[in-house]
Amino acid sequence: MSRSAHPAGPRHADVLPEGHYSAPPADLNVLDPKVWAQTVSRDADGVATVGGMDVKSIAEQYGTPAYVLDEADFRARARAWRGAFGGDADVFYAGKAFLSRAVVRWLHEEGLNLDVCSGGELATALSAGMPAERIAFHGNNKSVEEIRRAIGEGVGRIVLDSFQEIVRVAHIARELGTRQRVQIRITVGVEAHTHEFIATAHEDQKFGIPLAGGQAAEAVRRALQLDSLELIGIHSHIGSQIFDMSGFEVAAHRVVGLLKDVRDEHGVELPEIDLGGGLGIAYTSDDDPREPHEIAKALTEIVTRECEAAKLRTPRISVEPGRAIVGPTAFTLYEVGTIKPLDGLRTYVSVDGGMSDNIRTALYDAEYSVALVSRTSDAEPMLARIVGKHCESGDIVVKDAFLPSDLAPGDLVAVPATGAYCRSMASNYNHVLRPPVIAVHDGEARVIVRRETEEDLLRLDVG
Ligand SMILES: *Cc1c(COP(=O)(O)O)cnc(C)c1O
Repeated sequence: MSRSAHPAGPRHADVLPEGHYSAPPADLNVLDPKVWAQTVSRDADGVATVGGMDVKSIAEQYGTPAYVLDEADFRARARAWRGAFGGDADVFYAGKAFLSRAVVRWLHEEGLNLDVCSGGELATALSAGMPAERIAFHGNNKSVEEIRRAIGEGVGRIVLDSFQEIVRVAHIARELGTRQRVQIRITVGVEAHTHEFIATAHEDQKFGIPLAGGQAAEAVRRALQLDSLELIGIHSHIGSQIFDMSGFEVAAHRVVGLLKDVRDEHGVELPEIDLGGGLGIAYTSDDDPREPHEIAKALTEIVTRECEAAKLRTPRISVEPGRAIVGPTAFTLYEVGTIKPLDGLRTYVSVDGGMSDNIRTALYDAEYSVALVSRTSDAEPMLARIVGKHCESGDIVVKDAFLPSDLAPGDLVAVPATGAYCRSMASNYNHVLRPPVIAVHDGEARVIVRRETEEDLLRLDVG
Protein backbone atom coordinates (compact mmCIF):
# COMPACT_ATOMS: atom_id res chain seq x y z
CA MET A 1 0.00 0.00 0.00
CA SER A 2 1.40 3.37 -0.99
CA ARG A 3 1.01 6.17 1.52
CA SER A 4 3.63 8.51 0.19
CA ALA A 5 1.52 10.41 -2.34
CA HIS A 6 -0.54 12.44 0.13
CA PRO A 7 1.16 12.39 3.49
CA ALA A 8 -1.32 14.74 5.17
CA GLY A 9 -4.48 13.27 3.71
CA PRO A 10 -7.26 11.43 5.51
CA ARG A 11 -7.21 7.85 4.43
CA HIS A 12 -8.75 5.76 7.13
CA ALA A 13 -12.36 4.80 7.28
CA ASP A 14 -12.18 5.27 11.07
CA VAL A 15 -11.30 8.97 10.88
CA LEU A 16 -14.05 10.02 8.49
CA PRO A 17 -15.70 13.42 8.90
CA GLU A 18 -19.45 13.80 8.92
CA GLY A 19 -21.10 13.63 5.56
CA HIS A 20 -23.63 11.88 3.45
CA TYR A 21 -21.97 8.63 2.56
CA SER A 22 -21.96 5.04 3.60
CA ALA A 23 -18.88 3.06 4.55
CA PRO A 24 -16.32 2.45 1.78
CA PRO A 25 -17.22 -0.50 -0.42
CA ALA A 26 -15.38 -3.73 0.20
CA ASP A 27 -13.56 -3.53 -3.11
CA LEU A 28 -13.09 -0.19 -4.87
CA ASN A 29 -12.19 -1.93 -8.12
CA VAL A 30 -15.63 -3.46 -8.59
CA LEU A 31 -17.80 -1.57 -11.06
CA ASP A 32 -21.33 -2.16 -9.74
CA PRO A 33 -23.50 -3.19 -12.71
CA LYS A 34 -26.38 -1.35 -11.10
CA VAL A 35 -24.82 2.06 -11.76
CA TRP A 36 -22.64 1.36 -14.80
CA ALA A 37 -23.77 0.86 -18.39
CA GLN A 38 -24.53 -2.71 -19.37
CA THR A 39 -21.33 -3.54 -21.28
CA VAL A 40 -18.91 -1.99 -18.76
CA SER A 41 -16.30 -4.28 -17.23
CA ARG A 42 -12.51 -4.39 -16.72
CA ASP A 43 -10.02 -6.02 -19.05
CA ALA A 44 -7.15 -8.27 -18.01
CA ASP A 45 -5.02 -5.20 -17.21
CA GLY A 46 -7.72 -3.73 -14.98
CA VAL A 47 -8.65 -0.98 -17.44
CA ALA A 48 -12.40 -0.35 -17.67
CA THR A 49 -13.99 -1.15 -21.00
CA VAL A 50 -17.33 -0.31 -22.51
CA GLY A 51 -18.80 -1.62 -25.74
CA GLY A 52 -15.53 -3.48 -26.30
CA MET A 53 -13.39 -0.31 -26.08
CA ASP A 54 -11.05 0.47 -23.21
CA VAL A 55 -11.24 3.89 -21.62
CA LYS A 56 -7.54 4.64 -22.06
CA SER A 57 -7.87 4.32 -25.83
CA ILE A 58 -11.04 6.39 -25.77
CA ALA A 59 -9.26 9.12 -23.78
CA GLU A 60 -6.22 9.02 -26.08
CA GLN A 61 -8.32 9.24 -29.19
CA TYR A 62 -11.01 11.70 -28.12
CA GLY A 63 -9.58 13.49 -25.10
CA THR A 64 -11.18 14.17 -21.75
CA PRO A 65 -13.60 15.07 -20.40
CA ALA A 66 -15.94 13.04 -22.56
CA TYR A 67 -19.35 11.50 -22.17
CA VAL A 68 -19.06 7.86 -23.21
CA LEU A 69 -22.36 6.27 -24.19
CA ASP A 70 -23.07 2.55 -24.52
CA GLU A 71 -25.24 2.29 -27.61
CA ALA A 72 -26.24 -1.33 -26.99
CA ASP A 73 -27.42 -0.39 -23.52
CA PHE A 74 -29.42 2.56 -24.84
CA ARG A 75 -31.14 0.38 -27.41
CA ALA A 76 -31.76 -2.38 -24.86
CA ARG A 77 -33.40 0.03 -22.44
CA ALA A 78 -35.50 1.63 -25.16
CA ARG A 79 -36.59 -1.83 -26.28
CA ALA A 80 -37.32 -2.91 -22.69
CA TRP A 81 -39.63 0.07 -22.22
CA ARG A 82 -41.36 -0.56 -25.50
CA GLY A 83 -41.69 -4.29 -24.82
CA ALA A 84 -42.87 -3.80 -21.25
CA PHE A 85 -46.20 -2.40 -22.38
CA GLY A 86 -46.53 -4.54 -25.47
CA GLY A 87 -48.84 -2.83 -27.92
CA ASP A 88 -50.96 -1.40 -25.13
CA ALA A 89 -49.14 1.86 -24.62
CA ASP A 90 -46.94 4.40 -26.34
CA VAL A 91 -43.49 5.19 -25.04
CA PHE A 92 -42.32 8.74 -25.64
CA TYR A 93 -38.64 9.28 -24.88
CA ALA A 94 -38.23 12.67 -23.16
CA GLY A 95 -35.72 14.37 -25.44
CA LYS A 96 -34.69 16.94 -22.87
CA ALA A 97 -32.74 14.23 -20.99
CA PHE A 98 -30.33 13.98 -23.92
CA LEU A 99 -31.06 14.52 -27.58
CA SER A 100 -28.87 14.11 -30.63
CA ARG A 101 -29.54 12.93 -34.14
CA ALA A 102 -28.01 9.51 -33.48
CA VAL A 103 -30.30 9.10 -30.47
CA VAL A 104 -33.31 10.09 -32.57
CA ARG A 105 -32.44 7.43 -35.13
CA TRP A 106 -32.01 4.75 -32.46
CA LEU A 107 -35.39 5.65 -30.99
CA HIS A 108 -37.01 5.56 -34.39
CA GLU A 109 -35.51 2.14 -35.11
CA GLU A 110 -36.58 0.78 -31.72
CA GLY A 111 -40.17 1.94 -32.19
CA LEU A 112 -40.30 4.71 -29.61
CA ASN A 113 -41.91 8.10 -29.90
CA LEU A 114 -40.34 11.37 -28.83
CA ASP A 115 -41.18 14.29 -26.55
CA VAL A 116 -39.74 17.68 -27.41
CA CYS A 117 -40.18 20.95 -25.55
CA SER A 118 -38.58 23.58 -27.75
CA GLY A 119 -38.10 24.53 -31.37
CA GLY A 120 -34.48 23.36 -31.13
CA GLU A 121 -35.45 19.89 -29.95
CA LEU A 122 -38.14 19.71 -32.62
CA ALA A 123 -35.63 20.69 -35.32
CA THR A 124 -33.18 18.02 -34.10
CA ALA A 125 -35.88 15.34 -34.14
CA LEU A 126 -37.12 16.26 -37.60
CA SER A 127 -33.64 16.57 -39.05
CA ALA A 128 -32.89 12.98 -38.01
CA GLY A 129 -36.03 11.67 -39.64
CA MET A 130 -38.36 11.11 -36.70
CA PRO A 131 -41.84 11.13 -38.27
CA ALA A 132 -43.70 14.21 -37.03
CA GLU A 133 -46.74 12.18 -36.03
CA ARG A 134 -44.56 10.36 -33.48
CA ILE A 135 -43.53 13.61 -31.81
CA ALA A 136 -45.27 15.23 -28.84
CA PHE A 137 -44.65 18.91 -28.18
CA HIS A 138 -44.52 20.07 -24.54
CA GLY A 139 -43.72 23.23 -22.66
CA ASN A 140 -45.34 25.94 -20.58
CA ASN A 141 -44.44 28.79 -22.91
CA LYS A 142 -44.24 27.62 -26.50
CA SER A 143 -43.82 30.56 -28.83
CA VAL A 144 -46.19 31.28 -31.68
CA GLU A 145 -43.37 30.41 -34.11
CA GLU A 146 -42.76 27.09 -32.36
CA ILE A 147 -46.45 26.21 -32.39
CA ARG A 148 -46.77 27.16 -36.06
CA ARG A 149 -43.75 25.04 -36.98
CA ALA A 150 -45.03 22.07 -34.94
CA ILE A 151 -48.51 22.16 -36.45
CA GLY A 152 -47.16 22.81 -39.92
CA GLU A 153 -44.90 19.77 -39.64
CA GLY A 154 -47.80 17.68 -38.40
CA VAL A 155 -46.69 16.73 -34.88
CA GLY A 156 -48.75 13.95 -33.36
CA ARG A 157 -49.80 15.90 -30.33
CA ILE A 158 -49.35 19.20 -28.60
CA VAL A 159 -49.66 19.14 -24.84
CA LEU A 160 -51.60 22.25 -23.84
CA ASP A 161 -50.32 23.88 -20.68
CA SER A 162 -52.50 26.95 -20.07
CA PHE A 163 -55.81 28.57 -20.97
CA GLN A 164 -54.04 31.02 -23.25
CA GLU A 165 -52.35 28.20 -25.07
CA ILE A 166 -55.64 26.43 -25.76
CA VAL A 167 -56.78 29.48 -27.69
CA ARG A 168 -53.39 30.11 -29.29
CA VAL A 169 -52.98 26.56 -30.61
CA ALA A 170 -56.60 26.47 -31.79
CA HIS A 171 -56.12 29.75 -33.64
CA ILE A 172 -52.92 28.68 -35.37
CA ALA A 173 -54.38 25.28 -36.31
CA ARG A 174 -57.40 27.01 -37.84
CA GLU A 175 -55.11 29.39 -39.73
CA LEU A 176 -53.20 26.42 -41.10
CA GLY A 177 -56.41 24.63 -41.97
CA THR A 178 -55.85 21.60 -39.76
CA ARG A 179 -57.34 19.95 -36.72
CA GLN A 180 -54.54 19.48 -34.16
CA ARG A 181 -54.47 16.52 -31.78
CA VAL A 182 -53.92 17.83 -28.25
CA GLN A 183 -53.74 16.70 -24.67
CA ILE A 184 -54.27 18.94 -21.65
CA ARG A 185 -51.61 18.84 -18.99
CA ILE A 186 -53.11 19.02 -15.54
CA THR A 187 -51.60 19.22 -12.08
CA VAL A 188 -53.18 16.67 -9.82
CA GLY A 189 -51.83 17.97 -6.51
CA VAL A 190 -49.14 15.32 -6.23
CA GLU A 191 -45.42 15.86 -6.41
CA ALA A 192 -43.03 12.93 -6.30
CA HIS A 193 -39.27 12.94 -6.02
CA THR A 194 -37.17 9.91 -5.26
CA HIS A 195 -38.72 7.92 -2.43
CA GLU A 196 -41.32 10.39 -1.34
CA PHE A 197 -44.41 11.94 -2.70
CA ILE A 198 -46.53 14.70 -1.33
CA ALA A 199 -50.21 15.00 -2.06
CA THR A 200 -51.97 18.40 -1.79
CA ALA A 201 -50.05 21.67 -2.12
CA HIS A 202 -48.16 21.01 -5.33
CA GLU A 203 -50.35 22.90 -7.68
CA ASP A 204 -48.11 25.86 -6.86
CA GLN A 205 -45.90 25.52 -9.94
CA LYS A 206 -45.59 26.79 -13.49
CA PHE A 207 -46.64 23.62 -15.32
CA GLY A 208 -50.12 22.45 -16.10
CA ILE A 209 -53.65 23.47 -15.25
CA PRO A 210 -54.77 22.66 -11.70
CA LEU A 211 -57.41 20.04 -11.20
CA ALA A 212 -58.34 21.96 -8.06
CA GLY A 213 -61.17 24.47 -8.27
CA GLY A 214 -62.51 22.92 -11.47
CA GLN A 215 -59.87 24.59 -13.64
CA ALA A 216 -58.89 21.42 -15.51
CA ALA A 217 -62.56 20.65 -16.16
CA GLU A 218 -62.97 24.18 -17.54
CA ALA A 219 -59.94 23.69 -19.81
CA VAL A 220 -61.51 20.51 -21.19
CA ARG A 221 -64.81 22.38 -21.72
CA ARG A 222 -63.04 25.07 -23.76
CA ALA A 223 -60.90 22.66 -25.77
CA LEU A 224 -63.94 20.56 -26.70
CA GLN A 225 -65.66 23.66 -28.08
CA LEU A 226 -62.86 24.49 -30.50
CA ASP A 227 -63.23 22.78 -33.89
CA SER A 228 -59.55 23.06 -34.76
CA LEU A 229 -58.56 20.99 -31.69
CA GLU A 230 -59.02 17.27 -31.29
CA LEU A 231 -58.76 16.61 -27.57
CA ILE A 232 -57.33 13.10 -27.26
CA GLY A 233 -56.54 12.95 -23.57
CA ILE A 234 -55.21 14.20 -20.28
CA HIS A 235 -51.56 14.48 -19.33
CA SER A 236 -49.92 14.38 -15.90
CA HIS A 237 -46.22 14.41 -14.99
CA ILE A 238 -45.58 14.30 -11.26
CA GLY A 239 -41.85 14.56 -10.67
CA SER A 240 -38.43 13.05 -11.19
CA GLN A 241 -36.18 10.25 -9.96
CA ILE A 242 -39.23 8.45 -8.52
CA PHE A 243 -38.91 4.95 -7.03
CA ASP A 244 -42.22 4.68 -5.26
CA MET A 245 -45.33 4.01 -7.36
CA SER A 246 -47.78 5.47 -4.85
CA GLY A 247 -47.50 8.96 -6.37
CA PHE A 248 -48.58 7.52 -9.75
CA GLU A 249 -51.40 5.75 -8.00
CA VAL A 250 -52.82 8.99 -6.64
CA ALA A 251 -52.20 10.80 -9.95
CA ALA A 252 -53.95 8.08 -11.98
CA HIS A 253 -56.87 8.10 -9.56
CA ARG A 254 -57.30 11.85 -10.02
CA VAL A 255 -56.81 11.84 -13.79
CA VAL A 256 -59.39 9.08 -14.16
CA GLY A 257 -61.68 11.08 -11.89
CA LEU A 258 -61.48 13.92 -14.40
CA LEU A 259 -62.13 11.54 -17.33
CA LYS A 260 -65.23 10.40 -15.51
CA ASP A 261 -66.42 13.98 -14.95
CA VAL A 262 -65.80 14.71 -18.64
CA ARG A 263 -67.85 11.67 -19.63
CA ASP A 264 -70.67 12.67 -17.28
CA GLU A 265 -70.72 16.28 -18.49
CA HIS A 266 -70.02 15.93 -22.21
CA GLY A 267 -70.78 12.28 -23.00
CA VAL A 268 -67.21 12.00 -24.30
CA GLU A 269 -64.75 9.31 -23.22
CA LEU A 270 -61.28 10.71 -23.88
CA PRO A 271 -59.21 7.90 -25.40
CA GLU A 272 -55.77 8.57 -23.91
CA ILE A 273 -54.02 9.17 -20.62
CA ASP A 274 -50.37 10.18 -20.34
CA LEU A 275 -48.69 9.55 -17.01
CA GLY A 276 -45.45 11.37 -17.82
CA GLY A 277 -41.95 10.26 -16.90
CA GLY A 278 -39.84 10.62 -13.81
CA LEU A 279 -38.87 7.01 -13.15
CA GLY A 280 -35.71 6.73 -11.07
CA ILE A 281 -32.33 5.20 -11.87
CA ALA A 282 -29.38 4.09 -9.73
CA TYR A 283 -26.83 6.87 -9.31
CA THR A 284 -25.17 5.02 -6.45
CA SER A 285 -25.26 1.43 -5.23
CA ASP A 286 -27.83 2.48 -2.61
CA ASP A 287 -30.52 3.14 -5.25
CA ASP A 288 -32.88 0.34 -6.26
CA PRO A 289 -34.88 1.27 -9.34
CA ARG A 290 -37.63 -0.93 -10.71
CA GLU A 291 -37.47 -2.67 -14.04
CA PRO A 292 -39.59 -1.29 -16.91
CA HIS A 293 -41.82 -4.38 -16.96
CA GLU A 294 -42.63 -3.96 -13.26
CA ILE A 295 -43.43 -0.29 -13.79
CA ALA A 296 -45.55 -1.06 -16.86
CA LYS A 297 -47.46 -3.71 -14.96
CA ALA A 298 -48.07 -1.43 -12.00
CA LEU A 299 -49.20 1.52 -14.14
CA THR A 300 -51.46 -0.61 -16.32
CA GLU A 301 -53.07 -2.21 -13.26
CA ILE A 302 -53.61 1.13 -11.57
CA VAL A 303 -55.28 2.69 -14.62
CA THR A 304 -57.37 -0.40 -15.37
CA ARG A 305 -58.58 -0.64 -11.79
CA GLU A 306 -59.45 3.04 -11.60
CA CYS A 307 -61.32 2.90 -14.91
CA GLU A 308 -63.27 -0.19 -13.91
CA ALA A 309 -64.32 1.55 -10.72
CA ALA A 310 -65.41 4.60 -12.74
CA LYS A 311 -67.10 2.41 -15.39
CA LEU A 312 -64.92 3.88 -18.13
CA ARG A 313 -63.33 2.16 -21.06
CA THR A 314 -59.61 1.92 -20.23
CA PRO A 315 -57.84 4.65 -22.21
CA ARG A 316 -54.62 4.05 -24.09
CA ILE A 317 -51.69 4.83 -21.79
CA SER A 318 -48.56 6.71 -22.72
CA VAL A 319 -45.43 7.22 -20.65
CA GLU A 320 -42.46 9.53 -21.09
CA PRO A 321 -39.26 8.11 -19.60
CA GLY A 322 -36.15 10.19 -20.25
CA ARG A 323 -33.64 9.54 -17.49
CA ALA A 324 -34.66 5.86 -17.16
CA ILE A 325 -33.61 5.22 -20.74
CA VAL A 326 -30.50 7.33 -21.27
CA GLY A 327 -29.27 8.01 -17.73
CA PRO A 328 -27.53 4.72 -16.99
CA THR A 329 -26.10 4.33 -20.50
CA ALA A 330 -23.32 6.91 -20.23
CA PHE A 331 -20.47 7.87 -17.93
CA THR A 332 -18.27 10.94 -17.90
CA LEU A 333 -14.60 10.21 -18.35
CA TYR A 334 -12.26 12.70 -16.66
CA GLU A 335 -8.54 13.02 -16.14
CA VAL A 336 -7.41 13.64 -12.60
CA GLY A 337 -5.54 16.92 -12.15
CA THR A 338 -4.59 18.35 -8.79
CA ILE A 339 -5.16 16.36 -5.62
CA LYS A 340 -5.51 18.28 -2.38
CA PRO A 341 -5.75 16.40 0.91
CA LEU A 342 -7.37 18.44 3.68
CA ASP A 343 -6.36 17.09 7.02
CA GLY A 344 -9.19 15.48 8.97
CA LEU A 345 -11.70 16.37 6.25
CA ARG A 346 -11.37 14.78 2.85
CA THR A 347 -9.26 14.84 -0.27
CA TYR A 348 -10.26 17.21 -3.04
CA VAL A 349 -9.69 15.60 -6.41
CA SER A 350 -9.90 18.06 -9.30
CA VAL A 351 -10.90 16.82 -12.72
CA ASP A 352 -10.71 18.51 -16.10
CA GLY A 353 -14.45 19.31 -16.29
CA GLY A 354 -16.97 20.12 -13.59
CA MET A 355 -20.23 22.00 -13.19
CA SER A 356 -20.21 22.92 -16.90
CA ASP A 357 -20.62 19.24 -17.85
CA ASN A 358 -22.60 18.17 -14.78
CA ILE A 359 -24.66 20.85 -13.07
CA ARG A 360 -26.92 18.39 -11.28
CA THR A 361 -24.85 18.11 -8.11
CA ALA A 362 -24.77 21.90 -7.66
CA LEU A 363 -28.36 22.37 -8.80
CA TYR A 364 -30.17 19.49 -7.11
CA ASP A 365 -27.67 18.21 -4.58
CA ALA A 366 -27.64 15.08 -6.74
CA GLU A 367 -25.61 12.09 -5.67
CA TYR A 368 -23.15 10.34 -7.94
CA SER A 369 -20.50 7.71 -7.61
CA VAL A 370 -17.02 7.62 -9.13
CA ALA A 371 -14.34 5.05 -9.87
CA LEU A 372 -10.72 4.90 -10.93
CA VAL A 373 -11.00 3.36 -14.40
CA SER A 374 -7.54 3.51 -16.01
CA ARG A 375 -6.19 0.86 -13.63
CA THR A 376 -7.10 -1.05 -10.52
CA SER A 377 -5.57 -0.34 -7.14
CA ASP A 378 -5.21 -2.16 -3.84
CA ALA A 379 -4.47 1.01 -1.90
CA GLU A 380 -6.64 1.91 1.07
CA PRO A 381 -9.79 3.89 0.34
CA MET A 382 -9.70 7.65 0.87
CA LEU A 383 -12.73 9.86 1.22
CA ALA A 384 -12.71 12.09 -1.83
CA ARG A 385 -14.72 14.95 -3.23
CA ILE A 386 -14.60 15.23 -7.00
CA VAL A 387 -14.51 18.88 -8.01
CA GLY A 388 -14.21 20.66 -11.32
CA LYS A 389 -11.99 23.42 -12.65
CA HIS A 390 -14.50 26.27 -12.45
CA CYS A 391 -14.22 29.47 -10.41
CA GLU A 392 -16.92 28.46 -7.97
CA SER A 393 -16.57 26.58 -4.70
CA GLY A 394 -19.90 24.85 -5.40
CA ASP A 395 -18.32 23.30 -8.48
CA ILE A 396 -18.70 19.76 -7.18
CA VAL A 397 -19.31 16.69 -9.32
CA VAL A 398 -19.36 14.00 -6.64
CA LYS A 399 -19.79 15.19 -3.11
CA ASP A 400 -18.49 12.21 -1.20
CA ALA A 401 -17.01 9.06 -2.63
CA PHE A 402 -14.17 6.69 -1.95
CA LEU A 403 -11.20 6.40 -4.27
CA PRO A 404 -7.93 4.56 -3.78
CA SER A 405 -5.43 6.63 -1.79
CA ASP A 406 -2.70 6.14 -4.40
CA LEU A 407 -4.72 8.17 -6.92
CA ALA A 408 -2.39 10.38 -8.94
CA PRO A 409 -2.58 13.15 -11.52
CA GLY A 410 -3.09 11.62 -14.96
CA ASP A 411 -5.28 8.79 -13.70
CA LEU A 412 -8.65 8.47 -15.41
CA VAL A 413 -11.76 8.49 -13.27
CA ALA A 414 -15.32 8.07 -14.46
CA VAL A 415 -18.65 9.15 -13.03
CA PRO A 416 -21.41 6.70 -14.04
CA ALA A 417 -25.07 7.41 -14.82
CA THR A 418 -24.44 10.78 -16.45
CA GLY A 419 -26.42 10.06 -19.61
CA ALA A 420 -29.39 12.20 -18.60
CA TYR A 421 -29.43 15.94 -17.89
CA CYS A 422 -25.66 16.37 -18.08
CA ARG A 423 -24.78 17.07 -21.73
CA SER A 424 -28.25 18.51 -22.23
CA MET A 425 -27.70 20.99 -19.37
CA ALA A 426 -24.03 21.63 -20.12
CA SER A 427 -22.83 25.23 -20.24
CA ASN A 428 -19.81 27.23 -21.32
CA TYR A 429 -19.19 28.67 -17.86
CA ASN A 430 -15.64 30.05 -17.68
CA HIS A 431 -15.57 29.54 -21.45
CA VAL A 432 -14.94 25.88 -20.85
CA LEU A 433 -15.65 23.86 -23.99
CA ARG A 434 -18.47 21.36 -23.79
CA PRO A 435 -17.33 17.72 -23.98
CA PRO A 436 -18.17 15.39 -26.84
CA VAL A 437 -20.51 12.43 -26.66
CA ILE A 438 -18.76 9.28 -27.83
CA ALA A 439 -21.01 6.33 -28.64
CA VAL A 440 -19.37 2.93 -28.37
CA HIS A 441 -20.72 -0.26 -29.83
CA ASP A 442 -19.12 -3.63 -30.61
CA GLY A 443 -15.54 -2.43 -30.34
CA GLU A 444 -16.09 0.77 -32.24
CA ALA A 445 -16.32 4.33 -30.99
CA ARG A 446 -18.06 7.10 -32.83
CA VAL A 447 -18.45 10.79 -32.04
CA ILE A 448 -22.16 11.59 -32.01
CA VAL A 449 -21.77 15.11 -30.63
CA ARG A 450 -18.33 16.56 -31.19
CA ARG A 451 -16.27 18.46 -28.67
CA GLU A 452 -16.75 22.20 -28.74
CA THR A 453 -13.77 24.17 -29.96
CA GLU A 454 -12.48 27.67 -29.25
CA GLU A 455 -13.56 28.45 -32.77
CA ASP A 456 -17.15 27.53 -31.86
CA LEU A 457 -16.98 29.90 -28.91
CA LEU A 458 -15.47 32.76 -30.87
CA ARG A 459 -17.91 32.33 -33.73
CA LEU A 460 -20.76 33.40 -31.45
CA ASP A 461 -18.78 36.37 -30.19
CA VAL A 462 -19.07 38.73 -33.11
CA GLY A 463 -16.87 41.37 -31.54
C1 LIG B 1 -38.93 15.95 -17.81
C2 LIG B 1 -40.16 15.33 -18.30
C3 LIG B 1 -40.20 13.97 -18.56
C4 LIG B 1 -39.02 13.06 -18.35
O1 LIG B 1 -38.62 12.98 -17.03
P1 LIG B 1 -37.53 11.87 -16.62
O2 LIG B 1 -37.31 12.13 -15.17
O3 LIG B 1 -36.32 12.13 -17.44
O4 LIG B 1 -38.12 10.55 -16.91
C5 LIG B 1 -41.36 13.43 -19.07
N1 LIG B 1 -42.44 14.20 -19.31
C6 LIG B 1 -42.44 15.52 -19.05
C7 LIG B 1 -43.65 16.32 -19.35
C8 LIG B 1 -41.31 16.14 -18.55
O5 LIG B 1 -41.31 17.45 -18.29
